[in-house]
Amino acid sequence: MRGERVLDELTVHQLLGRIVYFHVLLIAPGLPAADRGPASGPACCRHRTPGSRLRDTTLEGSAWGALLAVAVELPGHHKPCPRKSGTCCPACRVTSAAAAVGSGWAAAEHRAYHQRSPAPGLADACGRAAASRVGRVFAARHATACAALDRLTAEPPAPEALPSVDELPLTGELLALWADPAATTQAPVTSWLNHCTGLGDVRRVLESRRTPS
Ligand SMILES: [Zn+2]
Ligand SMILES: [Zn+2]
Repeated sequence: MRGERVLDELTVHQLLGRIVYFHVLLIAPGLPAADRGPASGPACCRHRTPGSRLRDTTLEGSAWGALLAVAVELPGHHKPCPRKSGTCCPACRVTSAAAAVGSGWAAAEHRAYHQRSPAPGLADACGRAAASRVGRVFAARHATACAALDRLTAEPPAPEALPSVDELPLTGELLALWADPAATTQAPVTSWLNHCTGLGDVRRVLESRRTPS
């Protein structure tokens, strides 16, 4: 078992870039208009703790800012701190954005492959798993302590609650890559998903695998 190894910049950029790429290409075009609307979640750990130092920590402009931008596209799933984001706990910002990607992608994929929304527990489990896995990488790289992330990491969703790459390929790959990102070091991540231009393509691949020819 490897410890919390600090990932190199290149790997982090590659993994974040993969989220942006798949989101723009595969997820965003199918998002229903009803999914769009502002929401907020519980306060981040700085704004929740009286007396904590509220200093500005900017993520915009960094590679992590791209993750925040994707989360904004998933307002039905993105529940950021209601206070001013510039002084929020940066790890809380990253975890709430990653949670939006995990649950938003799971819901979008499930709708595309099964023509109905997933059971509520599935999107929620994917959101929590993505939040703790992405959040851990962020906290290790930036030496940031976050009480909310510690709680998330202490209570991971049961493995059987999470989809495999054969059920929800994008969400499954996201969770697998961030579970052990050091394994992807330096090698470009490639998979059959790289050849898909829409969730319809992904669905056709999944169906062709289920139907033995
Ligand atoms: Zn905050
Ligand atoms: Zn925090």
